[in-house]
Amino acid sequence: MPLGIGCTARPGQGRNNKTGSWRVYYPILDKEKCTKCGTCQLICPEGCINQLPDKSYEIDLDFCKGCGMCAEECPDKAKAITMHKEEK
Ligand code: SF4
Ligand code: SF4
Repeated sequence: MPLGIGCTARPGQGRNNKTGSWRVYYPILDKEKCTKCGTCQLICPEGCINQLPDKSYEIDLDFCKGCGMCAEECPDKAKAITMHKEEK
């Protein structure tokens, strides 16, 4: 997995580091809208937004805590990430 600028660490791979069922919201990244600016990857406190070989981004929902910072900081011209409520 290529590490992008500002990505300091991968989330732990152990089962204990995975997000539990307590998450309330989760993000969806629309690759059609994404300008590949990298802001979301820089801002994510969990380090769970990854850059793929084609320079696009994906969110690893196994580790995402649903804080919404990526959606908040995605630039206005793109707004490529939206938060959705988990179905319980
Ligand atoms: S912040 Fe938004 S536009 Fe920038 S890479 Fe992330 S999803 Fe794409
Ligand atoms: S919602 Fe929070 S933890 Fe999940 S990908 Fe966005 S910034 Fe990272």
